[in-house]
Amino acid sequence: MYISDFSLSRLPRIEFGPGVLGRLPTIARIYGTRALLVTGASSLRNSPFWTPVTDGLKAQGVSWLHLAIPGEPSPQMVDEAVRALRPESIDVVIGFGGGSALDAAKAIAGLLKPGNSVMDHLEGVGPELAYVGPATPFIAVPTTAGTGSEATKNAVLSVQGSDGFKKSFRDEKLVAEVALVDPDLLATCPASVIAANGMDAFTQLLESYVSCRAAPLTDSLAWGGMKAARDGLLALYADAGDAAARNRMAYAALVSGITLAQVGLGSVHGLAAPLGAFFPIPHGVACGTLVAQATRANIEALQAREANHPVLEKYAQAGRLLSKQGQLNQTASHAALIDTLDAWTRELQLPPLAQYGVTHADIPRIVANSRGSSMKTNPIALTDAEIAGILAARI
Ligand SMILES: [Zn+2]
Repeated sequence: MYISDFSLSRLPRIEFGPGVLGRLPTIARIYGTRALLVTGASSLRNSPFWTPVTDGLKAQGVSWLHLAIPGEPSPQMVDEAVRALRPESIDVVIGFGGGSALDAAKAIAGLLKPGNSVMDHLEGVGPELAYVGPATPFIAVPTTAGTGSEATKNAVLSVQGSDGFKKSFRDEKLVAEVALVDPDLLATCPASVIAANGMDAFTQLLESYVSCRAAPLTDSLAWGGMKAARDGLLALYADAGDAAARNRMAYAALVSGITLAQVGLGSVHGLAAPLGAFFPIPHGVACGTLVAQATRANIEALQAREANHPVLEKYAQAGRLLSKQGQLNQTASHAALIDTLDAWTRELQLPPLAQYGVTHADIPRIVANSRGSSMKTNPIALTDAEIAGILAARI
């Protein structure tokens, strides 16, 4: 086994398990007595989890303000929240929701003290100034199993429309102090959200596993995460009441955030950024609908141009893992991997891109905007024609 050089950037303190939400009030109190709760639009206020959290904060002497984020967060939303909330002397920001709520909370926590616009720091747009902090302590409580934002150092912000973009505010200082991952929170997750987010988590694991920056430490994490997703995703989609499946998918998502933050992603996420910027397509749907075809394209490009590349054997390992057929040769394992991903795409009813208004005429513009940070860690440099082929197959 060859141990390549690697760095491990900081992680949150992680509390994982059914019921860990009950620890939130005492953990929040460690950071002070004034909290900001950031949630998604379909507010947790009506869920069975809201009252225990807010009563618990009150019992700990922590007062709180609530900010609901409608849809995926934009830079304008973050700037407005920071402007309005700076005078409130917030001690701790609690992101409680899906990836959008967590990313909004992370960005707001990053800027409450410095007070400048998030546009100063977004990658690829504006001046890209270095972020010096300090960040307000941030606690991440995911209620979906998908983006892994609870473990990452970036907040994805988007402006949607023909001039849209989807870019990251990224810095190690933005990593949550604590990630409270309570699989029981998935019990109220709708099936379509489980499908899209679960495919996002799996994509993040596979893309980290074959990333050109992959390293043994993250490989072992990604491997366990892919195994958990193999055994949890369809089961959780069928029944959100399946506690073992909830645990597996909450774990897969958490680990996917850890691995992607360390070694990057690939072509699926390279394409998900412009797709999400130009069209109203949720991130998980974009990833889920593309991952099988993008995996096929990567394997074919590697076979055509770099037939001895060691990542072909990693794809084969993933194929044996998903199909539970350890004896398959490399070619058969590649087919098993793609077949399994195609089957998941069908069974999870991930819609084609046309459902969100994407047409063949849009392909050149999407391809032209797909070469952001994720595409740079794809295991092989794809041509424009190859990237266009991935999209064309999913319209
Ligand atoms: Zn993702």
